[in-house]
Amino acid sequence: MRVLFKRDDLTGFALGGNKARKLEFLIADAMAKKADVVVTGGGPQSNHARMTAAAARQAGMDAVLVFSGNPPAESNGNLLLDEILGAELVYTKTEDTSETDRMIERVTAGLEAQGRRPYLIPRGGSTVLGCISYLLAVAELRKQLAAAKIEPDYDFITTGSCGTHAGILAGYKYVGATATVVGITVSRPVSEGRQRIVKLVRDTANFLGTPLPLDLREIIIKDGYIGAGYGIITPEAREAIREVARLEGIFLDPVYTGKTMAALIDMTRRGEIPRGSTVVFWHTGGAPGLFGHARDF
Ligand SMILES: *Cc1c(COP(=O)(O)O)cnc(C)c1O
Repeated sequence: MRVLFKRDDLTGFALGGNKARKLEFLIADAMAKKADVVVTGGGPQSNHARMTAAAARQAGMDAVLVFSGNPPAESNGNLLLDEILGAELVYTKTEDTSETDRMIERVTAGLEAQGRRPYLIPRGGSTVLGCISYLLAVAELRKQLAAAKIEPDYDFITTGSCGTHAGILAGYKYVGATATVVGITVSRPVSEGRQRIVKLVRDTANFLGTPLPLDLREIIIKDGYIGAGYGIITPEAREAIREVARLEGIFLDPVYTGKTMAALIDMTRRGEIPRGSTVVFWHTGGAPGLFGHARDF
């Protein structure tokens, strides 16, 4: 087996990750709309929230981050970075993530009422603009693979709010290449993920005015690796993180990529992925979250 890492953990901004690609377009849109504050949310260890706050700051805007639950006793990992960035933090006091979405909307409306110009980014930044950033990432990957004369058998990615997965599928349509894209869900049920991806790819095709005819069979989502829940590490993910660090000096993360690597290892052991395969592993970042999970190690 040959595993190639697409190092999107090194996207070169605010400690990296897939959200840098999405924010390149989302923040440009916020600037075009003359926004002065960006509102988003997630869990307190959200990589998306950290990168959004950093991108907003760099563009001269304020950032408000809505987090599920209550303020943790100690600020570490991504949360520490949010505080260093001077983001305003709001807690929903419940683990129900739909309340996070509602609170993001209430905070945005409140800022508008105060005469501010807020720009709302949904959790995970999985809008059409976010999706397009991953369509372009596929074009970039294809160029790199062509230069190296490598044709992979599989792409492995982590499926959260689904913009990355949808963007990659759209990207393969866009460049006219075929690929087997395997998404490992770390939060949503498969059916919900499929619905979101279908909608995102359709909306992206409409936005670009380009047909991106996705066959439902091309949406592959595996849900056997979530463990006890989103943000809760599994023993297999912990082992995968240790193994990749010790073999390659690459840090996976406890919430997303660690679980996806655990899935790749398990699916290979069980023969679902043939041993002679070449796999592109999209390392979408998240290592700052390790510092919020010290006790798990
Ligand atoms: C957000 C995130 C993902 C998932 O991307 P989505 O577009 O939300 O599906 C994967 N890995 C890391 C490290 C992330 O922060």
